[in-house]
Amino acid sequence: MNLRRFLCLFNRHRPNRNRTKWNGHFYTSKCEACGQPVYRLGKQKWRKDNQEAPGKV
Ligand SMILES: [Zn+2]
Repeated sequence: MNLRRFLCLFNRHRPNRNRTKWNGHFYTSKCEACGQPVYRLGKQKWRKDNQEAPGKV
């Protein structure tokens, strides 16, 4: 199994740095390993876009 994909299963995504964007609330990008949209939750913490987003409360 691809190690990076494996990490994705644990919601540890690796965003493409060149595609990181600031959307006014948080950084968003696309995971290089699984290709899914992700957002930055904190330092080295990226979560899938379809999960609870910060400020969405
Ligand atoms: Zn991923």
